Amino acid sequence: MRQKSGVFAQEATTDYHCSYCGKSFAHKFYLKEHENRHRGQFRLYCPVCQKGFMSSTGLKGHLANQHSRTKDYRCPHCDKAYSYKHHLKEHMLHKHRAAL
Ligand SMILES: [Zn+2]
Ligand SMILES: [Zn+2]
Ligand SMILES: [Zn+2]
Repeated sequence: MRQKSGVFAQEATTDYHCSYCGKSFAHKFYLKEHENRHRGQFRLYCPVCQKGFMSSTGLKGHLANQHSRTKDYRCPHCDKAYSYKHHLKEHMLHKHRAAL
C-alpha cells in the first residue's frame, strides 16, 4: 500500500528528546506525556536547579556535570577530593578504614 508522502514524511521526525532518558518522540505531545511519567517516579531533586532524578547515581552525575564546583574536601591519604564532607568521610572509611 502506498501512502502519500509530504505530511507523513514531515511528521515522522523524532525531534523531541526526553531530557531524562534521551528517548525520542515524533510529537511534543507524546514527549510531554512521557516526561510526566518520569516526574511521577522522581525521588530525588537537584538542590541547585530542582531537576528531578530517579536514582542517586543520576543526581550525582548531574551535580558533577552541571554544577561542578571546587572540591574542598581532600583525602589526606590519596589524591581524591570531594565537594561534600560526608563523601570524603565515606571514602576514607571504605578505602582507608580511617575516620575523619
Ligand atoms: Zn524518558
Ligand atoms: Zn541541577
Ligand atoms: Zn583516599
